[in-house]
Amino acid sequence: MKSNSARQAAISAVTSYKPQTPPLNFLDTPAKDIFGANVFGNAIMRERLPKAVYKAVQATINKGTKLDPIVADAVATAMKDWAIEKGATHYAHVFFPLTGQTAEKHDSFLSPDGKGGAIAEFSGAQLIQGEPDASSFPSGGIRVTFEARGYTAWDVTSPAYILENPNGTTLCIPTAFCSWTGEALDKKTPLLRSMQALNKQAQRVLKLFGHNDPDMVFATAGPEQEYFLIDRNFYYARPDLTIAGRTLFGAEPPKGQEFEDQYFGAIPERVLACMLEVERELFKLGVPVKTRHNEVAPSQYEIAPVYENANVAADHQQLVMLTLQRVAQKYGLACLLHEKPFAGINGSGKHLNWSLATESMNLLEPGDTPHDNMQFLVFCAAVMRAVHLNAVLLRASVANASNDHRLGANEAPPAIISIFLGEQLTDIFEQIEKGGVKSSKSPGKLTVGVDTLPPLPRHAGDRNRTSPFAFTGNRFEFRAVGSTQSIAGPLVILNTIVADSLDYVASEIEKTTKGDASKLNAAVQKVLQQIMKEHKVIIFNGDNYSEAWHKEAEKRGLPNLRDSVDSHAAVTGADFVKLFAKFKVLSKRELASRQDIYLERYCKDIATEGKLTLSVARKTILPAAYRYQHELALTAGAVKAAGVETDTDTLAKVSKLVDGLEGALDNLEKALSHEASGSTLKHAKHFRDEVFPAMNAVRGVADKLETLVSDDLWPLPSYQEMLFIK
Ligand code: ADP
Ligand code: MG
Repeated sequence: MKSNSARQAAISAVTSYKPQTPPLNFLDTPAKDIFGANVFGNAIMRERLPKAVYKAVQATINKGTKLDPIVADAVATAMKDWAIEKGATHYAHVFFPLTGQTAEKHDSFLSPDGKGGAIAEFSGAQLIQGEPDASSFPSGGIRVTFEARGYTAWDVTSPAYILENPNGTTLCIPTAFCSWTGEALDKKTPLLRSMQALNKQAQRVLKLFGHNDPDMVFATAGPEQEYFLIDRNFYYARPDLTIAGRTLFGAEPPKGQEFEDQYFGAIPERVLACMLEVERELFKLGVPVKTRHNEVAPSQYEIAPVYENANVAADHQQLVMLTLQRVAQKYGLACLLHEKPFAGINGSGKHLNWSLATESMNLLEPGDTPHDNMQFLVFCAAVMRAVHLNAVLLRASVANASNDHRLGANEAPPAIISIFLGEQLTDIFEQIEKGGVKSSKSPGKLTVGVDTLPPLPRHAGDRNRTSPFAFTGNRFEFRAVGSTQSIAGPLVILNTIVADSLDYVASEIEKTTKGDASKLNAAVQKVLQQIMKEHKVIIFNGDNYSEAWHKEAEKRGLPNLRDSVDSHAAVTGADFVKLFAKFKVLSKRELASRQDIYLERYCKDIATEGKLTLSVARKTILPAAYRYQHELALTAGAVKAAGVETDTDTLAKVSKLVDGLEGALDNLEKALSHEASGSTLKHAKHFRDEVFPAMNAVRGVADKLETLVSDDLWPLPSYQEMLFIK
């Protein structure tokens, strides 16, 4: 579609917008009745499962006890009956391969009955285990293609659900995905292992604090998803957006986000209609989405749920991404999840709120007088230590080609990992370091100076939007996660490194108290003091965007891994291998395979972008420029023939840029034709150092041409059109 026709189609989509389907009606079916309607959750299980089976399943979910395979048959039958009543014809094992995407293999419930008919069947064995061919998923050398066996294993702790389609519904069963050797080929298996490690170590600490039989401790996660919605006509008229997920060309529009009039602004009607349907679909799936708002950039939005058990939250987050994309289509929109769809305006992230909790306690809740709350201080200090020792791992967990555009670009946190603790907590930890803590600075009340407005309680710390890892009152917020990314990766790292620190803290305390509870205070003071001494350099409450911080961080010895290639390359140290092996989260091979997969993915991403740049510039942009050049030349000739003195400035400019573009394209082509040999790391460096800059050079010239070439000849929808026609 030409730029002009895409624009006309989009304008008409906006001006004549009518809902395709009858409007949703929350009066007839209130949201609370919809919530969880398609989930095989607690209530349904209690209703449909034999009591003993129900209890066994709940014990696995809530206490982490081993699943007895005997219960599977009963659960499978109940699940199948429930699903068929809801119109399901198929069931699917849903899994999360290392592409970061969601994969599903569907099977029909029907089996031939041997008499020419068919019966609906679903056994415990089918529920527990599936066998998708694993050969087409990245394994990073764990499995060679001819050894294709891969298994999916039922994750009883994440509820099964029904996915609706106008033509039928499917029972979806969240599963882990591993190879024939039992090695993890996915994101869920290590996440579950890390949750188990965290539980074990956190319980040790809780026992020291007098909880004799502590409830299961689990990580909690609340991911805030940012995304763009633009008219679908533009999306399909831009091969860069459709294929690479981001614009590889596009001159800066006259208006961007500098008016600061987007954030929390009123939501356009079509967009709001789409959001309402997204939310309703997610409610049905039991995803507790709560917050929606306009984000900073034009056409950028955010959706955030209430936090949940981190494993369930990770599965739900994948559903959020899928649902956003699916529903957007119905409204003539395209949902862009890429970290940087448009240059020059903010990109999208996924703030990952994280804490540890039991059924009844948030272990990172400081209370009103945190200095008295030793247990909280211990958990908080453990996180500090973990982040300092493993900043490289956290950095690598959010590293991909698309997130490289965000981190360090003064709109998202820098690539240097540090912790924002806020004034009150920093003060407390400083008192501890000096020898003992006596008080918490009171946050006081906030008065606005208008008598009719109530006094508001003030939080103990202000926000710091520039920090990559901020304490936000009762949780940490990891702000470097990218909008396309599965949160499972960062969660695995957080859970594992914190389990390791809790192990350290518990062992240190046990060494001092030797079972004598009266020595607990002194032991805690000692270990906290030690942690402060060794790890306080990770605390930084100032402006993370400033040049001064970058210098200071270097002095403090904090790593500054600027891009994905360096970040993944850094995850090889023997310490890291030992850490993951110790908590049985990833074996040496599993860890190495991930490094390889992520580096290879980097190469593929940049290669695709490079090839797209080449083809769009050669086949779409250059021809438009030639046409305009021709037109200018004809005009100049005609004007001259008419005896009028002509000025050929524009023609000269355009011609120079055309030459420049041809040259830049030749360079890019050369960079892309590089022969494959050597390690994945070597390839990745080539893509970073040769292809990426060559691609940017092409864009530089093409964007200049866009500002000169006649609008009716320019083939791609402009930034202005994509961002503001809505
Ligand atoms: P913000 O003001 O940071 O944009 P939002 O309301 O958009 O806040 O999102 C905050 C997220 O943090 C929500 O998903 C919320 O459920 C989550 N959250 C709150 N408490 C916890 C916790 N204890 N553990 C994990 N996540 C939490
Ligand atoms: Mg938010």
